[in-house]
Amino acid sequence: MSYRRRPCPERWGRSRTLERVQELHDAPLAPLTTFRLGGPATRLVTATTDAEVIAAVREADAAGTPLLLIGGGSNLVIGDKGFEGTALVIATKGLEIVGTRMELAAGEVWTDAVARTVEAGLAGVECLAGIPGSAGATPIQNVGAYGQEVSSTITEVIAYDRRSGETVTLTNEECAFSYRHSRFKADPERYVVLRVRFELEDADGLSGPIKYAETARALGVEPGDRVPLASARETVLKLRAGKGMVLDPEDHDTWSAGSFFTNPILTDEQFAAFRARVQERLGDGVEPPAYPAGEGRTKTSAAWLIDKAGFTKGYGSGPARISTKHTLALTNRGAATTEDLLALAREVVGGVREAFGITLVNEPVTVGVSL
Ligand SMILES: Cc1cc2nc3c(=O)[nH]c(=O)nc-3n(C[C@H](O)[C@H](O)[C@H](O)COP(=O)(O)OP(=O)(O)OC[C@H]3O[C@@H](n4cnc5c(N)ncnc54)[C@H](O)[C@@H]3O)c2cc1C
Repeated sequence: MSYRRRPCPERWGRSRTLERVQELHDAPLAPLTTFRLGGPATRLVTATTDAEVIAAVREADAAGTPLLLIGGGSNLVIGDKGFEGTALVIATKGLEIVGTRMELAAGEVWTDAVARTVEAGLAGVECLAGIPGSAGATPIQNVGAYGQEVSSTITEVIAYDRRSGETVTLTNEECAFSYRHSRFKADPERYVVLRVRFELEDADGLSGPIKYAETARALGVEPGDRVPLASARETVLKLRAGKGMVLDPEDHDTWSAGSFFTNPILTDEQFAAFRARVQERLGDGVEPPAYPAGEGRTKTSAAWLIDKAGFTKGYGSGPARISTKHTLALTNRGAATTEDLLALAREVVGGVREAFGITLVNEPVTVGVSL
């Protein structure tokens, strides 16, 4: 079957129309990513049903061909040389809400699904509005923003297990979720997410407790308060848009993967050494951001580190630069290559390490390249 219309990331934030199973050879992957970066795939297959997904995965595995799974391409850094193997776009459809339960097919557009939960009067994912990409990718890095993470509402993930060749159901506990991490991210060659099940909350049209101070401020409430669901969603969308964190094809600040680095989590000992280094460099009164991250661990802010190491908003003179709206987003200004992006990322990592002794870790998944 021929492939007439390539799905573009900017359209995926709304509804996307995809033709049925397609196969292309030597197909460019850049248009399938929000960075608009990456060379071609030897073979590009688009699957629109679970059966097609499983068949494509089984075929690649039986042939010993490397496999790259692609949802919305919003967390992928693909090398300029592309991908030697089968790139499989998961474009399955299906959204069902029954009572407080929701089941999503992996290919559903995440932010559209969030809008549907708000329409249905259900709380739990309203602060995750505006996050690009597919529902099936949300468990991979335990997507989170503005005080919510999918690990709080996911009950089960239905996945194809490439090791056993069976479709399996993993409970929330079995997904081993943590900050921007999961069993799926730890073992990327094993599971293909087919469906995700959520348990949401019926709080009479109100949101979950607003946990994030910035959102509470913008809503004019105290942290912990609940607000009408639609207000929570709209406020988050507004805050995100101001930081270039909602896809807009006209705005190069959104040609990114969102946050490029995760927030470092330090042991008490590491944090004490880091704090001393900050005060030595920036002055005695300066306190680095510190958030509790479990027993004996503290999370600090990657954006703060980058900024204080001298990489401020808009930094860079080449085709890859730091977003003019958010220090944590590396962006393609239109003509960048993946190498340009990686050179910038390495410069930032090196600068932060030199200034504060902390090595930042990239959040997006790299394909055929590394930092
Ligand atoms: C502007 C912008 C803002 C963002 N803001 C946030 C944010 O606030 N919080 C946040 O957590 N993230 C954020 N992100 C990152 C990204 O949107 C999320 O990680 C999202 O879940 C990725 O979904 P995707 O479908 O685009 O995944 P892709 O980029 O297509 O894939 C990401 C990884 O998941 C794998 N994968 C995809 N689908 C499946 C599947 N069905 N089964 C198994 N593996 C799969 C891929 O192989 C790859 O390893 C942002 C990105 C952008 C561009």
